[in-house]
Amino acid sequence: MTQRIVLASNNKGKLKEFNELLSTIGFSVHPQEEFNVSESPEPFHTFVENALTKARHAARQTGLPALADDSGVCVNALNGAPGVYSARYAGEPKLDAANSAKLIDDLSAFDDKSAYYYCVLVYVRHADDPQPIIADGRWDGEISPEARGQGGFGYDPYFLIPSLGKHVAELAPEEKNRLSHRGQALRALVEKLK
Ligand code: IMP
Repeated sequence: MTQRIVLASNNKGKLKEFNELLSTIGFSVHPQEEFNVSESPEPFHTFVENALTKARHAARQTGLPALADDSGVCVNALNGAPGVYSARYAGEPKLDAANSAKLIDDLSAFDDKSAYYYCVLVYVRHADDPQPIIADGRWDGEISPEARGQGGFGYDPYFLIPSLGKHVAELAPEEKNRLSHRGQALRALVEKLK
């Protein structure tokens, strides 16, 4: 029997990626807009608290098990910034180009350009689940001042993977999914859900 679950996001790319792997263990993943779930607050300073809040919110409004993710880019020289604030680093409205420009400017005084993408996934069986299932993933690289590639989103044109000699925006989607923080977290979650 297929277990329907709600994804606390409307991002089509994530939905496809999550469905591909979770369908192999009997889940069908549905975006929260299918159930008219209202936007959840994300007021916390940690990824896991934000993801847990989004998952509980979606589960409460749909009566279904829920999966939520929270992610960002963490820069070592900036003590982990922008981190949970990655989407709005340059303020409102959320703009990838402005966020990347601010990040490069903030880093210009530092020699250490090392950074990592981080993603946490939280699965709750119901809104008040006392034992959420949590998995995370991390992808190390460097922030480059030069933009390269057309793929991905967010900080990808500026995120260099030194071992590949490529920026993330230059990778094919399958290659990014195989290596990325989100891909790692998703495979770890699937192992736990099994
Ligand atoms: P969210 O978890 O989808 O809300 O992502 C938060 C923010 O982190 C995004 O808006 C991006 O700025 C950044 N981010 C997260 N994952 C990635 C990625 O794979 N590539 C580029 N930027 C990312």
